[in-house]
Amino acid sequence: MNEEAKTAGRKAVVIGGSIGGLTTAALLRREGWDVEVFERSPSDLSGRGGGLVLQGDMLRALHQADIGWHGTPGVTTVDRIFLARDDSVIRRLHMPQTQTSWNALYGMLRDAQPAVHAGFALTGFEQRSGKVTAHFANGRHVEADLLVGADGARSQVRRQMFPGLQPRYAGYVAWRGLVPETELPDGLRDRLDHTFVFQQGERHMFLTYPVPGEDGATGPGKRRWNWVWYLPADAGAALDAILTDSDGRRHEASLPPGAMAPATTQGLLVQAGDILAPSLRALIEATSRPFVQAIVDFQAPAMRDGRVLLLGDAAAVIRPHTASGTGKAAADAMALAHALRDGYADSRLDGWERVRLAAARELGQWGVELGAGIMGS
Ligand SMILES: Cc1cc2nc3c(=O)[nH]c(=O)nc-3n(C[C@H](O)[C@H](O)[C@H](O)COP(=O)(O)OP(=O)(O)OC[C@H]3O[C@@H](n4cnc5c(N)ncnc54)[C@H](O)[C@@H]3O)c2cc1C
Repeated sequence: MNEEAKTAGRKAVVIGGSIGGLTTAALLRREGWDVEVFERSPSDLSGRGGGLVLQGDMLRALHQADIGWHGTPGVTTVDRIFLARDDSVIRRLHMPQTQTSWNALYGMLRDAQPAVHAGFALTGFEQRSGKVTAHFANGRHVEADLLVGADGARSQVRRQMFPGLQPRYAGYVAWRGLVPETELPDGLRDRLDHTFVFQQGERHMFLTYPVPGEDGATGPGKRRWNWVWYLPADAGAALDAILTDSDGRRHEASLPPGAMAPATTQGLLVQAGDILAPSLRALIEATSRPFVQAIVDFQAPAMRDGRVLLLGDAAAVIRPHTASGTGKAAADAMALAHALRDGYADSRLDGWERVRLAAARELGQWGVELGAGIMGS
């Protein structure tokens, strides 16, 4: 079969050029689809994001897409340790695992495929006569046989499918930071090395683990320490203050590195002094650009409306305690590529939706239970 015949009736547009969108595009191309990816951000997303735990589904998706990891996939820790407020180790579990950075994974997916159309913000879509047309804020329109909304937790595709449905704030935020190994205070690296460290307090939890450097390097001296601190914040004035940047702008759900107001950073340091183990407090003090995100829950009631699909965070936002955000997006994408192997088929997409909705609900429920345990609610 020539290439043109193989892709006839198999044109897909993917909205969102992050992990979910790039994984979907790579896997659909392997099944003979002609895929174009449209990303709202005008510039490359490199240099953003923090650490993430590598999940089997993500590794399987990379393998299926024939995307090899350049060098070491991440930094391995051997034990999980739990610290008390006075820095003593109260529990040690032998639990080897590998952590990478969002940036390393994104860079690999992006480098392995054709360029993304950057600066294309989807404003809406319409379906007619077995085709779907995507409309963009820059005035461009693109017609395809399938539109995949991989446009994240605040998905525009989903807003059109389910107007008025939005993620719900869970009552706490994740403060986050990345500290280059060379900027760690004396002795701290030796104390934290090879371990995934937790401090579980009353209604808060801190965790930290090493991840590759910004350039993906994993050797000693080149890594970064990724930390996350879950702390309650009431909806309303307290959350508004946290999400208002140094220029006075209230962000929707997260503040990127460098945007935090000085008074907010100061408040974080004061809380760290009050309740964190000294080693963990030292990590926050060594962080030049902390960032923060509100923890939200969302489950779409459906992942499909005709030729328009939702996947990844657009379909369901799962609590980060499950470490499953990228793994779930990858599993959605793998199952989709399998369903579309022989071209577009309604019955196979129905099956895909049923299976992936059930998986998202199960993960979502697990995340809520973990969150309740961690936050003592
Ligand atoms: C910059 C960034 C950093 C992240 N860092 C981490 C991390 O450190 N650790 C972690 O576990 N998870 C991180 N995530 C989240 C993680 O990528 C997701 O939880 C998971 O991989 C599922 O991804 P997704 O592709 O479904 O959604 P997302 O990763 O949220 O990607 C959605 C994409 O869609 C684009 N988009 C949104 N609206 C439109 C529109 N109207 N038109 C076109 N494009 C649109 C967004 O710009 C974004 O690139 C990060 C996400 C982003 C975007």
